[in-house]
Amino acid sequence: MEITECDLFVIGGGSGGVRAARMAAQRGARVVLAEAAALGGTCVNVGCIPKKLYSYAAHFAQEIEDAAGFGWSIAEPAFDWDRLKANRAREILRLNGVYEKLLVGAGVELVRGWAEPVAATQVKVATESRDRLFKARHILVATGGTPTVPFFPGCELVVSSDSMFDLDPFPARLLVVGGGYIACEFASIFNGLGAKVTQLYRGARVLRGFDDDIRVFIEQEMRKHGVELHTSADVRSIEKTAHGLRAHLTDGRTVLADTVLYATGRVPNVNGLGLEAVGVKQGKDGAIVVDELYRTSVPSIHAIGDVTSRVQLTPVALGEAMALVDHLFGDGKRKMGYDFIPTAVFTHPNIATVGMTEAQAREKFGKVTVFRSEFSPLKNTLSGSKERTLMKLVVDSASDRVVGLHMVGPDAGEVVQGFAVALKAGATKAVFDATIGIHPTAAEEFVTMREPVAHPAVAG
Ligand SMILES: Cc1cc2nc3c(=O)[nH]c(=O)nc-3n(C[C@H](O)[C@H](O)[C@H](O)COP(=O)(O)OP(=O)(O)OC[C@H]3O[C@@H](n4cnc5c(N)ncnc54)[C@H](O)[C@@H]3O)c2cc1C
Repeated sequence: MEITECDLFVIGGGSGGVRAARMAAQRGARVVLAEAAALGGTCVNVGCIPKKLYSYAAHFAQEIEDAAGFGWSIAEPAFDWDRLKANRAREILRLNGVYEKLLVGAGVELVRGWAEPVAATQVKVATESRDRLFKARHILVATGGTPTVPFFPGCELVVSSDSMFDLDPFPARLLVVGGGYIACEFASIFNGLGAKVTQLYRGARVLRGFDDDIRVFIEQEMRKHGVELHTSADVRSIEKTAHGLRAHLTDGRTVLADTVLYATGRVPNVNGLGLEAVGVKQGKDGAIVVDELYRTSVPSIHAIGDVTSRVQLTPVALGEAMALVDHLFGDGKRKMGYDFIPTAVFTHPNIATVGMTEAQAREKFGKVTVFRSEFSPLKNTLSGSKERTLMKLVVDSASDRVVGLHMVGPDAGEVVQGFAVALKAGATKAVFDATIGIHPTAAEEFVTMREPVAHPAVAG
């Protein structure tokens, strides 16, 4: 078989792979990228982008309701699920094309097919017409992750997040199982779009890993919006009946639904890659083990993004890609910092957070000062919406540094992105106090909170 030589062979055209391929090619490297499905990976096709588009769609329901208090009369609104799906599909197709243009424009050779490393510096790609063999100085595995559903009676009847964007028909009754951000987002989105949503989580409180105050608050807000949220509850089995899917819960109750979404976890996409055969060390669930330079146990093979099961976010995969390319083809000065990574959850209302939770800060620093503000946003004075906003600052008492910043409220992600720069730069509470607010906004509350809370608002 003919062998094509290159400097970098990238397996996977998702967030991390596309960025790495493009940056490496721009630095003069001969790059080949193999993608087995649609370009853009999880984020573009079944993750961040379609999810956010659907979140916008869901928010319109509330906007329409809120408009009445501002004098608007809107005739009976109607939602067309098929139109939303078609518009989303068209936009995603456009983005797939943009990704292809970016790659080809940068000089990357794009190969459509399933790729697997067959030796430390060799990759085989099964394309539609034939198998191709490549010899690469460096191989990058950026194959991402995939949803996983546990085994239980009736598990074949449930769907994963991958299927949620094209459900047919729209589920009038949706059961969401899981308490992570993907479960909470889909519960909020489909509730907003008009489904009757029940969410089950086997733990005591959703969104493990987030600040406890935020977790309690978002549960209240999601319930206010109409999500029937049951914590400490799990599914024992699911059966298909004439009335829909009947989920039997561990506490003896049953829930009837048209669709059951299992959003209980994701695993690294390593099946069939033959990593063991080439000697790449793997950890839990097959996650590829890498060092601080994204090198696997085989020095010519690297891995970034979700397949390494570290911080599973698109901007992290992008940051890792740029640090790796800089190391392989540049001066190696670029580093990916894993502290103060901001993140948002597109629930209704949104959540955004950067830095430590109160509990983490207490464990690390001992003495922390907490500032907390809960209020009804100005808009709701006329809209009549009962939705409330929560803002919280966690300060290391000894250094006065703000080490955690958390928000639940409209556009929380937009607000917190800016503050993330301040936290990354080491801003102290004194700097926050000296900053002038923008009035009238919700965000100004972050620079006007003066009275610390006397005790932790929520027991850890
Ligand atoms: C529902 C959902 C919502 C999300 N929302 C957000 C969000 O709001 N914000 C955020 O930051 N992150 C979000 N994420 C996470 C984000 O999508 C991922 O962290 C990110 O896509 C990881 O990028 P990656 O490059 O590691 O992998 P991916 O983007 O998954 O790309 C991997 C690619 O590799 C391809 N591939 C796999 N194996 C092979 C092979 N052997 N040969 C060829 N190609 C192969 C796949 O087809 C895929 O295209 C969300 C994820 C989900 C599931």
